[in-house]
Amino acid sequence: MGARPGRDARGPLAGLLIAALASAACAVGGVAEPEGDRPAPNPSAASPGPSTTRADSTTSVAEFEQDVADAQAVAERYWAAQFKASGQRFQPIRRITPYQRAGEVSCGGQALPRNNAVYCSQGDFIAYDIAWSVAAFRQVGDAFVFYLLGHEYAHGIQVRLGINYSFTIQQELQADCMAGAYLGDSVRSGALSLAEGDLDEFREGVAAVGDDPDQPWFAEGSHGTSEQRTESFFRGYERSLGACDLG
Ligand SMILES: [Zn+2]
Repeated sequence: MGARPGRDARGPLAGLLIAALASAACAVGGVAEPEGDRPAPNPSAASPGPSTTRADSTTSVAEFEQDVADAQAVAERYWAAQFKASGQRFQPIRRITPYQRAGEVSCGGQALPRNNAVYCSQGDFIAYDIAWSVAAFRQVGDAFVFYLLGHEYAHGIQVRLGINYSFTIQQELQADCMAGAYLGDSVRSGALSLAEGDLDEFREGVAAVGDDPDQPWFAEGSHGTSEQRTESFFRGYERSLGACDLG
C-alpha cells in the first residue's frame, strides 16, 4: 500500500509520529476509556507471523513509521477536502503520539494503559502504544496501519461534527464506516494505491478487532462484533461517506 505524494506531500515526518488503533479505547466525548489489555489482533485470524511479510511491506519499525505518516497525510488531505466541499473550515487533529509505557500519556486525567490506541478529545490527539501497534502491523500487514489511523482519525472528525451517539457501539461502527470511506475514496482518487493483498489485510484486520461474541452490544466500550465492524468498514469503503449516516 502506498501513498502517492501530492503537491503538498511532506517528507517523512520527524520521528515516530502517529498512528493507530486498535480495538481499544477510542472513546469519544472525552473519556479515554481504556479497554486495555485486549490482545493485539488475534494471531489465528491474521496470518503472517512476524517473520513473514506481505508482498508490499516489510516489518521494520521504520516502515511502520512511514505508513503512519502516510496514513496521517492522506487522512488530513481527505478530510480537508470533505470539509471544504461543505464550506467548513478543517482543523487537523493536533498530534499523533506514540507511547511506550502505561501512564506515559494521559487523556483527561486518565492514564492510558499499554496495548491501546485512542483518540482523546480533550487535547485533540491520537495516542498509541508503539510496541503493540507494531506487533499488529507485523501480524496483519501495512494496510492495517491505514485502517487503524483512519478509525481513530474518524473519532476526531465525529467530535468536529458534533456527533455523539448514546451507545459506544454506534460511535465505533460509524468510525469504521468513515475509515472505510477515507480509504476507498483515497484509492478511487489515486491518493492511495493498493498492493495485492491489501484488501484481505483490511478484512483480516477489521475482523480481528471485533468484540468477544458474548459482549453485550449496549455495554460501554462495545465496538461491535467482527461481522458488524467488517460490514460497516466495507459499506464506507464501497459507498463512501454517504453510507455512514453523518447526517
Ligand atoms: Zn474507536
